[in-house]
Formats: sequence, C-alpha cells, structure tokens
Amino acid sequence: MSSSLIFRHALLPTGWAEHVRLVFENGLITGVIPGQSGGQGIALPGMPNLHSHVFQRAFAGLTERRGPGADSFWTWRDLMYRFAHALTPDDLEAVALHGYIEMLERGFTHVAEFHYLHNAPDGSAYANPAEMSARLAAAAQQAGIGLLLLPVFYAHGGFGGQPPGPAQRRFVSSLDHYDAILEGASRLAPTGLAPHSLRAVTPDELAHLAGLAGPRPVHIHIAEQTAEVEACLAWCGQRPVEHLLATTPAGPNWCLVHATHVTPAELTAMAARGVVAGLCPITEANLGDGIFPAATFTGAFGIGSDSNVLIDPFAELQLLEYSQRFSLRARNVMATPGFPTTATALWARASEGGAQALGLTSGLRPGAPASFVVLPEAPTPDIALSQAVFAQRASALAQVWAGGVQQVADGAHRLAPSARARFEAVVRKLM
Ligand SMILES: [Zn+2]
Repeated sequence: MSSSLIFRHALLPTGWAEHVRLVFENGLITGVIPGQSGGQGIALPGMPNLHSHVFQRAFAGLTERRGPGADSFWTWRDLMYRFAHALTPDDLEAVALHGYIEMLERGFTHVAEFHYLHNAPDGSAYANPAEMSARLAAAAQQAGIGLLLLPVFYAHGGFGGQPPGPAQRRFVSSLDHYDAILEGASRLAPTGLAPHSLRAVTPDELAHLAGLAGPRPVHIHIAEQTAEVEACLAWCGQRPVEHLLATTPAGPNWCLVHATHVTPAELTAMAARGVVAGLCPITEANLGDGIFPAATFTGAFGIGSDSNVLIDPFAELQLLEYSQRFSLRARNVMATPGFPTTATALWARASEGGAQALGLTSGLRPGAPASFVVLPEAPTPDIALSQAVFAQRASALAQVWAGGVQQVADGAHRLAPSARARFEAVVRKLM
C-alpha cells in the first residue's frame, strides 16, 4: 500500500520545488509530484553517512587530553586499539544502536559501516565468523537506519605486506576467513568490500578483492596522513591515490575515504575515473589529518562521521566549507552555478555522492529510498538550510524518515532513552 506526504518545499535533483507530493511504497519513492496544494515543512533527501566506525562512539571525548609526548593520529590510534580490544559483541550492539539512533536524529538516514572488529579479543575467530557483523545489522534494524555493511579486509601492518602487530589481532584475517565473514554479512544486509588501506593489503590481495566485489561498492582508506604518503612513496615510488588508480579498476562504485593529501593531477584523475571522495571533515580535523582541496575537485563527494566524535551532517558540511574558507581566504567556496546558496549546494552534492558510494539511487526521485529529512519552515528553503548548516538553527529536526518509515519526530527517536542507558553502561565499563 502506498503512502504520500505533501511538503511546502522539497529539494529535488533539479532544485527546489513547491507543494510537492512524495509517494512511496515498500521503502522506495514511487512518485514526486510538484504543484499540489498545501503542504508543510521542507523536505531534503536523507544524508547517507558514507564512512562510520560506530564502535568508536564509545570513546568520543576521552582522547582530548595531551599525553607525555606530541599527540598525533598515531597516538590516538593506540588508544582506540585499547578500547577496541575490550568490546564484547553485546557491547558493540549497544554502542551501535545508540550511534545509529544519533545518526537518524541528526539526519543521516543510511550508514556505510566500515567494519573491521571481526575477531574475539584474543584474536581467535568467533564460531560465527560474521558474529560482529550480525550485531551491527541487528542494531541498524532496531534503529531503522539503512545499512551498507562493509566488512574490512585487514592483513598487514604496513606497506609491502609487513606482518600485523599484536594490537591488530581483532582485525586481521586470511582471504579464506574474509570470504566467510563476507558470506555471513551478505545474508544480513547489502554489502560492499573494504580493503582497509594500502598499508594493510598487498597489491595481489587488492586485485583479488576488486574482482570479488563485481559491481558492489568498494571503500578504502587512502592518503589520510602525510606519513602514509611518504611511506607509500618510499615503497613504490608513487603516491597512494596515484598508485591505487594505476593498479586497480577503481571507478564509480569505489569510495576513496579521506583522500586528503592529493596533488592536482590526482584530483583530476579521481574525477575522470568517477570515484567518490569520502570526506570526513570533523574526524579529519579532530585527528589533525589535513584539508582535502574540495574547492578544486569537480568529481563526486559525500560525507562520513568516521570516528563519530561528533555525529551531525550539518556540522560536517559547515566544517567542509569553513576548511576551504580558512585555506583560501574566500567565502561561499562550495557553491555552484546550479546551487548558488552554499548550504544547498553542499547538501545536494553530498547526498548525491553519498548515495553513489552506498550503491543507492540518489535524491528525491522515483526508485530512490523513501528517506528524507524535514526542516521547519523559514522565509525561504535556502535560508532554512543555511541556518541549519551555519547557524545550527535546526538543532531539533522536525522529522526524519528512513526507508518509508518515520523514525524521528520533533528531533527524537522513540528508542533514544533506553539506548542511551545501555550505551552509558558500556562506556562506564570500558573506562
Ligand atoms: Zn575510517
């Protein structure tokens, strides 16, 4: 049975339209009809979160204190590993449920979970190789967020097939064991493949995974840190993105997560190949990664909450624009001729690129998921979105719908209080 709603304004792939009826059935949009009468609120396509390690939400705010030496991505990673090693399957499910509810409450309607916590704390395999994937899928289903499971293949501790360290024992697998995880995950949710990084996967393994993926999404961390770029140059004489594009069939179903440190030639090549740049501005700021040169990138991009230190697509887009303003000393950098209002350009481009990265039909159009965010009305829809992105004026979203079901009303998800209590208990235990 189909349902329908009428909005005063809706952000369609062609731009703003008025008095739009959205018709949907079985979780998908079946009709988009402007020019109706009446309608309330401003509908935006739901924002796909193209990169999340949801377990990391459990230690958000706990690493913001300087250690004995200089803090860096690498000292943060040591702390993250210590937390990761203590998490049980029940803990992961509780943390994920809370994290996915927070994502929905802030306007992320789908999440690509880049999942590498496969093994038991001692490094042995669980009886069900996809045990931890199953916990993520259960949490996503309870929360009602769309899930793309990206089981991560992680085999090495550095470029050139270096052996993994003991701290990586929960992540590492053989290709055979990975097949079993992927097979199990595929029965739980749509899946893609995630070679962790060029550090953790050899060229032979990467070629195998690219073949195994077929048309499914392939996501990989790349060029996040300057130390990684230098190690890659020392290993093969090429920069990470340059090497990846030269040695794999990376195309529109690939998402290059971060791609922070790229040359103009690499940016041009990424756009030409049609890959999605997976930008995670808040995490990249938090970890001191650097600034992706988004102003000169003509290809597709989306946003991810990555470490989940803060979950908020509006804040991600604000920081994406502000990082460009800082480095270029200019304003309204990410606006386009089609969308001269910066916030609208950012939401339209990131929701479209995010959908591409998750293998979804993008935007409010027939065939796309019936996933949308409803903002309260303002003098114009551009102003409403600008205030949400730059002035945090939409701290409580009116409604969030995912897959044809309203999951958030007046900014709150019905399961938020109970999920929060379970989450807090896990955090107390881990500390
Ligand atoms: Zn990541």
